[in-house]
This record gives sequence, C-alpha cells and structure tokens, in this order.
Amino acid sequence: MANPDADEQPIPVIASERCTGCKLCVEACPEGALAMQQMIAVVVHPLACTYAGYCERICPQQAISRPFQILWSPGKEQS
Ligand code: SF4
Repeated sequence: MANPDADEQPIPVIASERCTGCKLCVEACPEGALAMQQMIAVVVHPLACTYAGYCERICPQQAISRPFQILWSPGKEQS
C-alpha cells in the first residue's frame, strides 16, 4: 500500500559508499520502493515507501538510515 502522506515524509537515506550491492534491502522491502542501480541500492519509488524500516534493519553494512524530524506543537498546560 502506498503511503498517502509520502509528500510530507522523508525517505530512507542510503550511504552509497557503504553499500556492497548485496540486494538484501531490495528483497526485504514489501513495497518495492528500492532497486539496484549500478550495483548500489536506490530508493526508486519514494512515494511507495511506508517508512517501515525493513531496509534499515536488514542492511549488514548499516548503509541505510531513516532521518526524522521532531515537531513541537503548542499544547495545553495541565493544572
Ligand atoms: S542491504 Fe545495504 S549493503 Fe545490501 S544492497 Fe541494500 S544498502 Fe547495499
């Protein structure tokens, strides 16, 4: 299932210099968001990414990370 909020959500970052081309992340992604290009993993379908993290967890080279933002919103003070 494609992520409906993909425009507002970052995609995994792949450090190409660490990638050995094992293809484990491509095979692990249930959304088919990743593919190999010139023996390096690339997020080829960013809108399909659900940010589940299968790729990050399976990579033996720790080449994949998922950046995130911390958003603050004003809240009610509790008394
Ligand atoms: S699992 Fe890691 S090392 Fe293997 S292809 Fe993907 S990014 Fe490259």
